[in-house]
Amino acid sequence: MLTLIQNVECYAPSPQGSVDILIANNAIAHIAPDISLTSSLVNVIDGSNLIALPGLVDSLVHISGGGGEGGFHTRTPQMSLTEATLHGVTTVIGALGTDATTRTLPDLVAKAKGLNIEGISAYCYTGSYHLPARTITGSVTDDIVLIDAMIGVGEVAIADHRAAEPTVQALAEVAAQARTGGMISGKAGIVYIHTGDGKRQLSLLHDVINNTDIPASQFYPTHINRNQGLLEAGIAWTRSGGVIDMTTSTNEQFIEEGEIPAADAIAYCLTNGVTARHLSMSSDGNASLPVFDDNGMLVGLEVGKVGSLFDAFKALVLEHNVSLENAIQVVSTTPARMLKLHQKGKLKPNSDADIVLCNKTTLDIVHVIAKGKHVVAQGKAIVKGTFE
Ligand code: ZN
Repeated sequence: MLTLIQNVECYAPSPQGSVDILIANNAIAHIAPDISLTSSLVNVIDGSNLIALPGLVDSLVHISGGGGEGGFHTRTPQMSLTEATLHGVTTVIGALGTDATTRTLPDLVAKAKGLNIEGISAYCYTGSYHLPARTITGSVTDDIVLIDAMIGVGEVAIADHRAAEPTVQALAEVAAQARTGGMISGKAGIVYIHTGDGKRQLSLLHDVINNTDIPASQFYPTHINRNQGLLEAGIAWTRSGGVIDMTTSTNEQFIEEGEIPAADAIAYCLTNGVTARHLSMSSDGNASLPVFDDNGMLVGLEVGKVGSLFDAFKALVLEHNVSLENAIQVVSTTPARMLKLHQKGKLKPNSDADIVLCNKTTLDIVHVIAKGKHVVAQGKAIVKGTFE
């Protein structure tokens, strides 16, 4: 199967000028100014007036459904294939969340496998909010080594009322287990951290890296745009060598209560000297977004959207004038590097052919190619999930 994208302005993420991109099976075969290839077997895509960027890597999606913080009838639905592909997301990492009782790790792994068959790249984390971590095999290390889809552990909750604050020892232990599993299997072995709005902020992470030999790169804290104080703590974490992640799913109430829209938070960090290598965004898709009244009573429930990630990418470029190169790093290159997904996050020969083609001016998505397969054409899904 050959696909040739012609005359597209390529961001690898660094700007490559106007080129042709040849895709063979699921990988990029060649990138050059003029690739001539004439055969009826070649699917030719006209890239003029479009830009090409690596498919988005979403480091946190509740792919098998999450939450349900208003009772059983409020459990959120699973993610469908096109909720990702229509919005340029070609790699997702699934997680449980608050609910690790009715949501299970075997179900999460099965959902990731299903998404891989349907056409995108899907992975997941073992564990959930609480320590000791839930696992499939009885060991975080063994889960990461033995279960293909599992690349780390998370979301481990810190500074959150829904989970007891782990001790330095407990967090260091799970990090060492994940790190060992990652080293044996050639995976990231990352500890993905759910950061709540508690006053301890990221101090536990500093305690672990200051008192053990575990490096900052072992932790990947998200929800850092929850409030201005946490954002400042996040910037301090990047000065210790860490990477911070902003959540793009939000609602009016969260913003009113002090949450900073993810694109605003990224722009603020860049202005304050943090490089795009230390910044990323994820959607927290399919999480429940509870709405409370002034008395703390639950009055509504919304669902996080994977599509919010691309919206935030557009806002970075169109509203905050962040360069395409930096904006692409934040939604693709940096998460791919943190998660050791070496075939993702860049456009170059031998990389996976995960490519988003969007309008040069509006950045609206026109085509999406996932693992070499044309899944979105002219903004419409041409490949759908099994039950869509
Ligand atoms: Zn979370």
